[in-house]
Amino acid sequence: MSISLDLDHHAHLDRPKSGRTSLVGLMKPELRDTLMGIGLDEREAKMRASQLWNWIYHNGVTDFDRMSNIQKGFRQKLSDTFLLDRPEIVTEQVSMDGTRKWLFRFRDPKNPLLPPVEVETVYIPEEGRGTLCVSSQVGCTLTCSFCHTGTQRLVRNLTAGEILGQILMARERLGDFPGGVRPDDGGLVPAPRGSGGSEGDSRAITNVVMMGMGEPLYN
Ligand code: SF4
Repeated sequence: MSISLDLDHHAHLDRPKSGRTSLVGLMKPELRDTLMGIGLDEREAKMRASQLWNWIYHNGVTDFDRMSNIQKGFRQKLSDTFLLDRPEIVTEQVSMDGTRKWLFRFRDPKNPLLPPVEVETVYIPEEGRGTLCVSSQVGCTLTCSFCHTGTQRLVRNLTAGEILGQILMARERLGDFPGGVRPDDGGLVPAPRGSGGSEGDSRAITNVVMMGMGEPLYN
């Protein structure tokens, strides 16, 4: 038995637009180099890369305007040049045991006019831990007999940004960023063992496994 949610309110999420590159998925040195590419000297680029890293991955921010330690003019320049792209949620299903399954939709960042692709991401809560199972490919080249994905041809590899985007979106839906609110749909989102704090200040995702669609070693 599962509970399906209406997710129409996510339709506003930013999609890749011509001329703007997503910063999600870049390693810190790549982030620094990208910022140097828009005119920052190395020292400032390194400092800004650390700030962006913190906002993107620790705070889950998707809007440059919320980056309060970056001056307004530079925030505007970032917004004009880059995206903090995340997948669109097609469906979210919550099982009675708290397992959540998302169907995420991505557009090819290099060819945004191509039809989008969709992959599944699953969250499995247990006492004291929460495991997120992410996809690494759309389809698969292997044909494991027990696996439905094995019946689908490989469409393409997911990018680093698309793999990380699954984690970021799951964290957002689970209220796992600072100030986030746990879902109130009855699904279990456990506090990690030994966290000692209230549910709101504990991590919902304690483990990430690459056991969704695709074979990561072929990506
Ligand atoms: S997705 Fe994983 S389990 Fe399924 S066919 Fe590919 S390698 Fe096998």
